[in-house]
Amino acid sequence: MPRAYIALGANLGDARANLLRAMEAMDGLPRTSIQHRSSLYRSSPVDSGGPDYINAVVEVVTAYSPLELLHALQRIEQGAGRLRPYHNAPRTLDLDILLYGEEHLDTIELKLPHPRMFERAFVLLPLAEVAPQLVTPAQLNKVQSQSIERLA
Ligand code: AMP
Repeated sequence: MPRAYIALGANLGDARANLLRAMEAMDGLPRTSIQHRSSLYRSSPVDSGGPDYINAVVEVVTAYSPLELLHALQRIEQGAGRLRPYHNAPRTLDLDILLYGEEHLDTIELKLPHPRMFERAFVLLPLAEVAPQLVTPAQLNKVQSQSIERLA
């Protein structure tokens, strides 16, 4: 089955609880299971306001197509009470597909690989934890000025 990497982020409500609940919900999806989960990280908001974010990355294997997976993740976001009052508003839960196998897609609804994944320490550090082969030292070097802390 295809292997996908999903970034989780939240900075409203009980962000840590929202992330752990989202991981359970993902693992509970039909024909989908989490293989690896990163530690939780705390990062300062980038292009967005409000409290610090809690972030993580999970690796899943799934029989869902990329779009089916996106729609399932959007239902999980909605279940967490996510509101979209404006672009990049603080959020109770954000789920992004970083990579789905070797898939390359460039539609408005779904872009793969995720176009901004290599710009963000809060994606690259947890991704490097679950899949070190996917992140190079040079990519990590580029985001080293961004403030992020791995939580115990
Ligand atoms: P955001 O507000 O950051 O959650 O952005 C969500 C929007 O980005 C949705 O309308 C998705 O259809 C779109 N999108 C494009 N590529 C991706 C991706 N790889 N993962 C998640 N959402 C994506």
